[in-house]
Amino acid sequence: MGKPTGFKEYDRETEPYRDPAVRMIDFDEIYTEHNESHLQTQGARCMDCGVPFCQSNSGCPVYNLIPEWNDLVYNGRWKEALDRLHTTNNFPEFTGRVCPAPCEGACVLGITSPAVTIKNIECAIIDRGFDEGWVTPKSTAQSTGKKLAIIGSGPCGLAAAEQLNTAGHSVTVYERADRLGGLLMYGIPNMKLDKGIVERRVQLMRDAGVEFVVNADVGKNVDPAELVANNDAVLLATGATLARDLPIPGRDAKGVHMAMEFLTANTKSLLDSGLEDGNYISAKGKKVIVIGGGDTGTDCIGTSLRHGCESLVNFELMPQPPNDRASNNPWPLWPKIYRVDYGHAEAADKFGDDPRVYSIMSKEFLKDDEGNLTGIVTINVDENIKEIPGSEKTWEADLIMLSMGFLQPEHYINEALTMETDGRGNFLATKENFRTSVPKVYAAADCRRGQDLVVRAINEGREAAREIDRDLMGSTQLP
Ligand SMILES: Cc1cc2nc3c(=O)[nH]c(=O)nc-3n(C[C@H](O)[C@H](O)[C@H](O)COP(=O)(O)OP(=O)(O)OC[C@H]3O[C@@H](n4cnc5c(N)ncnc54)[C@H](O)[C@@H]3O)c2cc1C
Ligand code: SF4
Repeated sequence: MGKPTGFKEYDRETEPYRDPAVRMIDFDEIYTEHNESHLQTQGARCMDCGVPFCQSNSGCPVYNLIPEWNDLVYNGRWKEALDRLHTTNNFPEFTGRVCPAPCEGACVLGITSPAVTIKNIECAIIDRGFDEGWVTPKSTAQSTGKKLAIIGSGPCGLAAAEQLNTAGHSVTVYERADRLGGLLMYGIPNMKLDKGIVERRVQLMRDAGVEFVVNADVGKNVDPAELVANNDAVLLATGATLARDLPIPGRDAKGVHMAMEFLTANTKSLLDSGLEDGNYISAKGKKVIVIGGGDTGTDCIGTSLRHGCESLVNFELMPQPPNDRASNNPWPLWPKIYRVDYGHAEAADKFGDDPRVYSIMSKEFLKDDEGNLTGIVTINVDENIKEIPGSEKTWEADLIMLSMGFLQPEHYINEALTMETDGRGNFLATKENFRTSVPKVYAAADCRRGQDLVVRAINEGREAAREIDRDLMGSTQLP
């Protein structure tokens, strides 16, 4: 274990982000350099408790061997820590940056004291691994002669591709976008996950033998039936990309956009031209309102601030969460508490206040004679989302982003394959074997279960790879 008395001696100290006033003027990552001796001390806080909930079901979805690598880091054995980390997680450089860290919510130390800084330690292990040149293309087993197609290059598709490639199968990933990574590339903005980090991992996979085809929109310019016919198995990892809209009066006003239109165009323009080509929706000088929270809402806030918006408000339908766990949300469940994410801190730094307004429902978008957005009418709601009469308010706005979650996958692939969906419109497949109703076709992660987290997508990619390998070979060595 770390240091037997470490949890008593040292306080939790997370790694700071860069100063909001400074980071807000660029799209570079928000993180500061790792301080390894500080992280060794933080690793010393791990109690190596008999039942490490952090790596159980309620904790880390990929079952990272957290107490083991905490101890190795405390003892300065970074290379061994990296080896342990890579046994369970294909891409710790992604989770170490963007994971909300359910492991920390389940940390046993968290019952009485602040949890161990697990996510910071994970990120430092993998970043050190890359700095030292320890991360190399994964070796592969002898070729099995089996051919596999994976549709979608998000964290699920990438994890499955890496696992199946190491098992000796010949794997091709088809991606409809012009760059690889799914929402790691065109969703989560650069300041949260630098796109060079995604490309670095994809290159390692290429070097290990995985083939990638971009601009391949399966169901539109690539025939899914042909992929099924020409491969031994096909894995659908297409994500849950149909976003929830807000069909209230005035929805057609010019200036109301889905969050993903805004975020995707921004990252593409940033990567193509450093935002010089103008092919993005600019928030510069605009009164911005973001409707809906979560990671997507925060990313719209952070991006609008970097454009130089004039004002910024974030509507939340639900009431403000409590500062501490409620009695019906005990440890080791994910703590549903009030959190200040990077975008909220930046907005507070620039405008003086947290941008979030709670318990508010949008009623009508307002527009001028030319159809341009001018504002929005809202009403306050109680904790049962019942409107409070007399609480109507008009807000000025010339750019509104809708960030109210995602409903299900798009349906043109399953329709082309006459594949069944479940009651929520997701591709029908169980977590036991990931098989869909079409022979040889499997589905995993967000397109199977609805939009979730990067770490859960990695986990389903790994598990689906194992089940596909088992179906193809009769048994499997994949974890
Ligand atoms: C803005 C935003 C921010 C987020 N931030 C976080 C965060 O900070 N932390 C976190 O843990 N999670 C976050 N998430 C959620 C997380 O990104 C997803 O749960 C995760 O990426 C899902 O992985 P996936 O592989 O299932 O699908 P995706 O990442 O959605 O990838 C699916 C890929 O399939 C491709 N595709 C779809 N249809 C086709 C087709 N017909 N042919 C070819 N390709 C196709 C898509 O273009 C896409 O590249 C965020 C989500 C969004 C939208
Ligand atoms: S992947 Fe997420 S849950 Fe797992 S150890 Fe890392 S931060 Fe924690």
